[in-house]
Amino acid sequence: MALSLIYDLPLSELTTLLDSWNEPEYRALQVWQGLYQHFWVSLEQFTNLPIALRHKLDTEFSFNALSPVSILRSSDKQTVKTLFKLHDGLAIEAVLMRYEKRRTICISTQVGCAMGCVFCATGQMGFRRHLSSGEIVAQVMHYARLLHDEGDVITNVVVMGMGEPFHNYENTLAAIDRLNDAEGYNFGARRFTISTVGLVLAIRRFTLEKRQINLAISLHAADDALRSSMLPVNKAYPLDEILNACRDYTLTTGRRITFEWALVNGINDTPEQAHLLAGKLKGLLCHVNAIPLNPTKGYGGEPTTQRHANLFKKILNEYGIPCTIRLRRGMDIQAGCGQLASKD
Ligand code: SAH
Ligand code: SF4
Repeated sequence: MALSLIYDLPLSELTTLLDSWNEPEYRALQVWQGLYQHFWVSLEQFTNLPIALRHKLDTEFSFNALSPVSILRSSDKQTVKTLFKLHDGLAIEAVLMRYEKRRTICISTQVGCAMGCVFCATGQMGFRRHLSSGEIVAQVMHYARLLHDEGDVITNVVVMGMGEPFHNYENTLAAIDRLNDAEGYNFGARRFTISTVGLVLAIRRFTLEKRQINLAISLHAADDALRSSMLPVNKAYPLDEILNACRDYTLTTGRRITFEWALVNGINDTPEQAHLLAGKLKGLLCHVNAIPLNPTKGYGGEPTTQRHANLFKKILNEYGIPCTIRLRRGMDIQAGCGQLASKD
């Protein structure tokens, strides 16, 4: 049987467990700080713990959630994509993107994805399983350690890798809470962004929780027929239901929402779609993040042109809707949005 993963435990559970082992109270915090402040990965590094306790932890827990099996660097060295093997042999990917000041990592929440968006490599591979909270946490800690060794730190975490985070709601939020823990990694909720395909019930639940985490919604089309042809989940949660939930979110939390839009040449980068979208977003506290489609094997659509992208943005701006055309990152290593799919 596979050992439990140490990153799956919140501090409270670790404390209860060590207490049941008759360890003094401060031990749990020592383990916790070793993991989340010193980024130790092997029990040998926990030299502040008695050997007997280290052995016991070693027999109960795995400290090694992810084995990096391949590391790809983009030609400009600014983007690093790591493929990790999980304990059951399945694989996931996580990406580090260096900008001028920001160090953003993009993490996965599932192996594959059940949502089947036609333009997405992860969707094309289908769903294998959810990641545990610890497997999500471990991706962040991997890059935290790597940057720490360079005297650097992660500034932002985007939950935009493989999988649909709101299909794995509990584990995703538990992972963020764990990374947020002030006694541990202490990574502010405001520096996380969760991106969802638009699972309405989960958006509503998230709204009620009134968290500081940023929310992004993958929209990609401004009418149901087009959206359903690109994102099959739209048949279950049509556009207006999603936008109603988004409106409630902004009203309840006072927070701006980001809408994501992969611009596909001649499909959703047209002036008609831009006008339609502007109408739908009227009065909603939001921002549109458009990105030229990243090509994937299973989808014939092509990226928009610079001219169409600029026109799309200009139309939204005329309605007072802020829109950014994002840079595509890591294209040469298949690390762009929607290009993550482990070949196993
Ligand atoms: N499942 C979540 C998060 C992971 S996908 C979601 O769908 O929001 C992260 C982002 O990449 C989403 O906005 C998604 O629509 C987008 N994306 C997927 N495939 C893409 C592609 N081929 N080119 C550009 N963006 C893509
Ligand atoms: Fe899943 Fe997001 Fe890809 Fe759609 S775009 S298949 S929801 S990972």
